[in-house]
Amino acid sequence: MLKGVSKRALSISPSPTLALDARIKKMRIEGVSVISFGVGEPDFDTPINIKNAGKKAIDDGFTKYTPSQGTESLRQAICDFYNRKWCTQLKPTNIVVSNGAKHSLFNIAMVLFGEGDEVLIPAPYWVSYPEQVILMGAKPIFIKTDLTTDFKINVDILKDCITDKTKALILNSPCNPTGIVYNKKELQEILNLVVQKGLYLIVDEIYDALVYNGIEYTSVLSFVSGNPDLMKNIIVVNGVSKTYAMTGWRIGYTISNEILAKIIGDMQSQSTSNPCSISQKAAEEALSGSQEAVKIMVEAFQKRRDLISGLLSEIDGVKLKKPDGSFYIFPDFSSFINTSFKGIKIQNTIKLCEYLLEEAKVGVVPGEAFGAPGYMRFSFATSEDNIIEGIKRLKEALKKLN
Ligand code: PMP
Ligand code: GLU
Repeated sequence: MLKGVSKRALSISPSPTLALDARIKKMRIEGVSVISFGVGEPDFDTPINIKNAGKKAIDDGFTKYTPSQGTESLRQAICDFYNRKWCTQLKPTNIVVSNGAKHSLFNIAMVLFGEGDEVLIPAPYWVSYPEQVILMGAKPIFIKTDLTTDFKINVDILKDCITDKTKALILNSPCNPTGIVYNKKELQEILNLVVQKGLYLIVDEIYDALVYNGIEYTSVLSFVSGNPDLMKNIIVVNGVSKTYAMTGWRIGYTISNEILAKIIGDMQSQSTSNPCSISQKAAEEALSGSQEAVKIMVEAFQKRRDLISGLLSEIDGVKLKKPDGSFYIFPDFSSFINTSFKGIKIQNTIKLCEYLLEEAKVGVVPGEAFGAPGYMRFSFATSEDNIIEGIKRLKEALKKLN
């Protein structure tokens, strides 16, 4: 071990989703034709009006430092977007813009979590939540869910997990990796309990625009319009990465009460300073310009979701819930555990995913990465042709197991 590396740094594991993506990219450079259901990244190009706003920012010389919490005009655009949609009365002082939603979550963890704190995280969870909590010296407490409960927590389960050390609950709706969406009533009940117990409810809404088949999405901020005091307990994380196919631009944001926003902003001023000035201009156009491209992308995701759900459910031994939102499906592949290939045993879904990558050249993320062994995550942010070919390859490889 390298001398002098902090205990904190040694506690961290790398992002398994990004690691798989790097491995697939390397295989492709080596000439292997891999179909990836791996990393969660829209395959669409960033819409043209947004790209043009970025180009214009460069031409206008908007290439210098901005306020570290983000420009006033982008923060106003974020407020307008939420105020219009959810009847909130947000002001730019409620917003901090950061380098992607992952960074926004990291900032929240830095500001809120420390030694002795417990943070509730429903499992399956997105990979970075527990790692960020652990990095701050706090303890993630997982609330286990599975297919039989539609991967949802409820207040009865939640009550049992709250102790006097509990600081916050991190909720992700629509959820990565399960695709579930909490409805208004479920959200209201969870919020009531969180408020009653004096906790923070951190809601990651990064997939809020990606809901299907008339499923209604409710932002937790919709409850604030009649009760501004709720901002004491609620923190929302969102960003432009997924909705606007802008993963590389790195813009995410937090919406919180002004006191917390000031602290987050101050902390950011001592770490990264402002997020990229050009990306901020592009994000402003994303939120305030035409939403036509989003409609087209959501329609395409819905078709792909129907396609992949249908194909996967035809496989004997696979159980699944059709996702209501996000661009992930999280089927149960546990019936393939303890099978073998050429005498080599497949003991878990990590091994199964490795086998599928090697044998079928199909990239899938094992449920272990999300705290749910036995499941596998497929991102359907890829073309219909890739979905058809990828599932065909997968089926053929599964047939070889005995
Ligand atoms: N939250 C969830 C649930 C995600 O899936 C992602 C995907 N990267 C993020 C946050 C982070 O998004 P960003 O790329 O904006 O950092
Ligand atoms: N959120 C994406 C995913 O889950 C990107 C990977 C990451 O940021 O770790 O695949």
